[in-house]
Parts: sequence; structure tokens; C-alpha cells
Amino acid sequence: MKNTYKIMANFDVPVVCNDYPQPTFDVSPTDVKIILDKQQQMHELCSSEMTPVVCNDYPQPTFDVSPTDVKIILDKQQQMHEFFMTCAIAAAKLSKAQRKKVGAILAKAGRIISTGYNGQPSGFDNCCEYTAEDGSLKTKPTVIHAEMNAILFCAKYGIPTEDTALYITLSPCNNCVTSIIQSGIKHVYYLEEYRDTTGVNFLRQAGIPVDQIKL
Ligand SMILES: [Zn+2]
Repeated sequence: MKNTYKIMANFDVPVVCNDYPQPTFDVSPTDVKIILDKQQQMHELCSSEMTPVVCNDYPQPTFDVSPTDVKIILDKQQQMHEFFMTCAIAAAKLSKAQRKKVGAILAKAGRIISTGYNGQPSGFDNCCEYTAEDGSLKTKPTVIHAEMNAILFCAKYGIPTEDTALYITLSPCNNCVTSIIQSGIKHVYYLEEYRDTTGVNFLRQAGIPVDQIKL
């Protein structure tokens, strides 16, 4: 009997731990509403059959979502964010900038529709900086920011930017924010916060949600 007990105990422990994580029951109805709202946002982003009904007729949240469902939703959402942000980081690596390399991804329906990184316009030299009189390295005024390059690629090839999600490795500046708003981008996610948060505040004023993604 002793041996049997030992085998059972050894077998049970890893199975329970790995396959059946205990759900946490500290999710409030407010949390659930936030999750459902975000879930709806993801549905709208990911649905290829988006209809005006989905946009206008916001479904009332039901509060019978189990903690396990909530965890699954959050895990999937996080997985998508991590995927897009990782791609934005990869785009940043292509930048020739010395001061700061920034990458951007425009996503729609769960797919990437455009990428960009900070750099000079086509036909200009690759160098993004010049040396100022005091010897410091300054960014050339002709350098286009990553998110602008992603948006302008869409403009060039006629890809709609409406209802897309923008993933940027650095929170946007004032200038880019005006274009982000006017191009119909629906949600902005950034990795690192730029020292000047005026751009982020403008986005919020315009009713565009902005969230920092932590990898
Ligand atoms: Zn910018």
C-alpha cells in the first residue's frame, strides 16, 4: 500500500500543477467588463467580416464569464500583443539611426499590413544624424518616424489604415499623432515611453486608446 501511495502521489502532483492551474477568483464585474470590451475590440480587429452592426451595437456584457475564460482571453490577447510588438522590435533593427532605432507595425484582422522604421526618405542618404556645433549628434529634420513610414507605405500602395492597431517600440511624438488620428488608427500600443508624453495625451484626447505593452 505504501508503494502504491507513493507512485500515485508522484504521478498526481505534476499533472495537477501543469494541466489544471487553479483559477483566481478575484475578478470583479468591472474587470470582466474591461475584458469584454477589450475582447470586443479584438473581435473587431480580427474579424474579416466586420459589419456596422458590430461597430454600433455594442453588446451588453454578461457577467457569467468564468475566471478560467477570463484567463484564456487575457492569455490570447497578450500572445497577439507580444507577437506584433516583437515584429515591431525586429523592424526597429533595420533602422540606420544611431541615436534611437524605432520600429512600427500596423495590424488588422490579426495580421500585419504594414511595417516601418525611422529613416531618411527614399533617395536620401542613409545617415539619420548630423553633428551639431556643440559636437552632439542631432537627428536630421528629414528623418521620417517609424509609425509615419508604416502609414505612408499604406498611402503609397492604397492599403486602408482605418480600424488598424499600431504597435510602436517608442510612444509617438506630437507630429506623428496627428497623422495617426487622421489615418483612422483605432488603438495604439507602445513598448517604451518617450520622454515627452504630449503625443500620448493628444491621442487620449482624441479618444484613441493607448496602452503600454510589457514583454
Ligand atoms: Zn513621430
